[in-house]
Amino acid sequence: MEERPKAPPHVLIFPLPAQGHVNSMLKLAELLSLAGIHVTFLNTDHNHDRLLRYTNVLDRFARFPGFQFKTIPDGLPADHPRTGDHFMELFDTLNSVTMPIFRKMLFSGQLNSNSSRLQVSCIIADGIFSFPIDVGDELGIPVIHFRTISACSFWAYFRILDIIGAGELPIRGNEDMDRVISSVPGMETFLRCRDLPSFCRVSNLADPNLQLVMNKTRQSPRASALILNTFEELEGPVLSHIRTHCPQIYTIGPLHALLKLKLGSETTTLHSQSSNSLFDVDRSCMTWLDAQPFKSVIYVSFGSITSMTKDALMEFWHGLVNSKKRFLWAIRPDLVDGKSGDGQTPAELVEGTKERGYMVGWAPQEEVLAHPAVGGFFTHSGWNSTLESIVAGVPMICWPYFADQQVNSRFVSEVWKLGMDMKDVCDRVIVEKMVTDLMVEKEEEFLKSTVEMSRLARESVSEGGSSYSHLDRLIDDIRLMNV
Ligand code: UDP
Repeated sequence: MEERPKAPPHVLIFPLPAQGHVNSMLKLAELLSLAGIHVTFLNTDHNHDRLLRYTNVLDRFARFPGFQFKTIPDGLPADHPRTGDHFMELFDTLNSVTMPIFRKMLFSGQLNSNSSRLQVSCIIADGIFSFPIDVGDELGIPVIHFRTISACSFWAYFRILDIIGAGELPIRGNEDMDRVISSVPGMETFLRCRDLPSFCRVSNLADPNLQLVMNKTRQSPRASALILNTFEELEGPVLSHIRTHCPQIYTIGPLHALLKLKLGSETTTLHSQSSNSLFDVDRSCMTWLDAQPFKSVIYVSFGSITSMTKDALMEFWHGLVNSKKRFLWAIRPDLVDGKSGDGQTPAELVEGTKERGYMVGWAPQEEVLAHPAVGGFFTHSGWNSTLESIVAGVPMICWPYFADQQVNSRFVSEVWKLGMDMKDVCDRVIVEKMVTDLMVEKEEEFLKSTVEMSRLARESVSEGGSSYSHLDRLIDDIRLMNV
């Protein structure tokens, strides 16, 4: 009897509704779609509206008949701020509102593929959620966790319980911040209290945010496998520690570089000007950059969630202006904390920037970092930003805001030697010195390490490279799950 051809696998991808998470998980969705896998991408209503408003994502994905978007509420009112201190409020509603709807959608078949009514054969869920593992268990669907953070941050999160067990937490005030933490294997000599994930900066260990990240990260070994947006040559030693708990890991980063390579000649205008942006991209800065000398500009951006006071913003601005270097600054409209500022970029800053600076609300960051005029990156050390900088070979000044960023910035400065860490300081004199050091005094020092790491990153996503091979293995394994 002739065997019926097997239906293609159908993967459900569900990111945490935040820019860095949606960005990298959509890139994975595109890579899987290129391999012929059916993909349903589950976005929150709020983010989906923004994605459609600011990108050509529907046109880009229209070439994959097996791809579809579905949406789900995040439980917050439309005008609720989803940045700064308010970001953690999102976790509450995701648990109380989104989780039961997610379960219902899966059980009722609402997430089946539109084109072929295919059932979901594998869930790739953001690793900060554990509820998809519970639902997957109930329905017999394998769940892969995707953590959009670095391996070093994942490992620090994973060890928080052990750090507490060893009596190394809580942190006892400011004077305790430089104490070295000894209970994270592989980081015993250089991880200080101030480099721990920001959630550890609490006096009460029952703090709900600390408990949340600690407990969710501990759930990852329950998943069938773990995907990380990193590469072996960057984080090999830390990855071996994680593998003792999660043996099945696919390291497929830097995802933006891997996708670019896979698209190859398919990279059309549609792609070259595309992004997965939840903000209105202002491309005028590319024309400004074209007019600047080679490696003369420091690009400044603190990502999609960071917020700061107007006073802090002015310290940065004075430091940048006093450094006399050219700068391109992405200042989101909601970067300045509405409580202390007026939520707008101060007029004196706009006026005073004209001489050597340029400001946009949101930049096409991948392209900016790859531009020859850019010689440095003042960053909040979000993981996507860090990887984009590594691939572009641009050294960093790190000013971490929260979560994993405190760990990333320590690795950038102390382990990988790709830049300097300015955490916990916001002072115009220090900003000026850091910028001068990065762009002038220490330019040579960082050149060798950034060029080398960029080469390794590009090699890892090339045919035969570690990330390239891990993606192939992931695709094969997803096909095998489809029994
Ligand atoms: N980004 C951008 N334009 C900007 C600032 C950021 O396109 O002006 C993108 C950046 O390229 C990165 C993402 O937004 O892919 C931010 O993710 P990251 O993990 O660095 O930080 P988060 O926003 O999650 O804190």
